[in-house]
Amino acid sequence: MSTFSSGFGRFVPAAGPDPLYGLLADRAESEAARRRRNPPLPPGPTAPVLVLGAGRMGTWVSNILAPMGVSLVVLDRDVVEPHNLEAGSAPFGLADVGLPKALAVANNLKQFAPRAHVQAYQGDIVLMPEPELLALSQGVGVVLGLVDAGEALLRINEVFYRHLPIVYAAGHHGARTGDILISRPGGACFRCLLGIDTADSVQTLNGEITHGIDILKLSEYCARVTLALLRDQRLGQIGEVLDEGVNFIFLRNRVSPGNLGNFAPQFLRIDRRCNCPVCGAR
Ligand SMILES: [Zn+2]
Repeated sequence: MSTFSSGFGRFVPAAGPDPLYGLLADRAESEAARRRRNPPLPPGPTAPVLVLGAGRMGTWVSNILAPMGVSLVVLDRDVVEPHNLEAGSAPFGLADVGLPKALAVANNLKQFAPRAHVQAYQGDIVLMPEPELLALSQGVGVVLGLVDAGEALLRINEVFYRHLPIVYAAGHHGARTGDILISRPGGACFRCLLGIDTADSVQTLNGEITHGIDILKLSEYCARVTLALLRDQRLGQIGEVLDEGVNFIFLRNRVSPGNLGNFAPQFLRIDRRCNCPVCGAR
């Protein structure tokens, strides 16, 4: 594992084994025996993924990708707080309270996916200098922008748009619907995908009560889109994602008067705005 230090972010070394996990290790052993009976899918030649944000979505997506052998670099600013353990939130445990979220994700993955390769960093996307953020993306195939704050989302757009495909996933009101945005170098950037120019225009679910299953479903689809962009077909292929013009996927989690059981994603094409300071013609 390479080390990396920053005046703003700091490298978080992996913690030693926690005795509390003895019981979990026993369970992991019986789980391993089950896996031996049902061998996992062979690891593919998938490039690493940079996960920006280890909140609800970032944690669930990491928990899907890492056990499949996808190497992860996880960056988050915050530590795990008691309210993060509430139902519908990220899959953290009591032992994680006070730990940097990125480290908690890495530690938890070590318990149930011992061969997963996860690098954890604590740092603020808005404050970290651009070269340090770009250093985290070295060798990476896809960046996941899974933070809530508008300011951080716009920074991700500014720093990574020209270099790598970026997947943004978000739940709408109550997470009954959500969207997955894909920005590709040369295509519409995050600002153009949402038609916004200021951080205040980004609406977040911050503090909103949502059902964990809805967040999990959005996260699961985000993981599928990520694998599709990496040309990894182990979870099947989403043909639409291979079409470079498709960059906005609208998802529905619930039955509603306008959606009586039809949960098929809608694949949309959003154009660049010519006056956009990030992706527009200059
Ligand atoms: Zn743009």
